This record gives sequence, structure tokens and C-alpha cells, in this order.
Amino acid sequence: MIRGRCPICSKAFAVETIDDQPGFPFCSERCKLIDLGRWMDGNYAIPDAPVSEPDDSESEEE
Ligand SMILES: [Zn+2]
Repeated sequence: MIRGRCPICSKAFAVETIDDQPGFPFCSERCKLIDLGRWMDGNYAIPDAPVSEPDDSESEEE
């Protein structure tokens, strides 16, 4: 038995195997797609993402 809670809609679920849960770790494939859509929209900001700006003063060419 696998128990989990959908990160999208917070719905708790319990399944025998992951095969029974096509959208695992989400409650359904619908929520899985919602999560995917959030990524696509860029709603998930990556806090520690380095801002790559070209620095002209330290240009190293290899
Ligand atoms: Zn859900």
C-alpha cells in the first residue's frame, strides 16, 4: 500500500502499487498535468538560480 498526498490539490490517496496511480505522486494525471503546466509557465521560481550576466571585464576565452 502506498499512501501519499497530492501536492496540487492536497488530496490524500492510497494505492496498492504505483501502477494504480498513473499520475503518481499526484492523485491523478490531471493534477500531474497541472503541475507540469506550472513548470511550463515558470511559476516555480528557482531561488538560487544564478543570474548569468556576461561580464566584459573578465572575459576568458578558451
Ligand atoms: Zn490532486
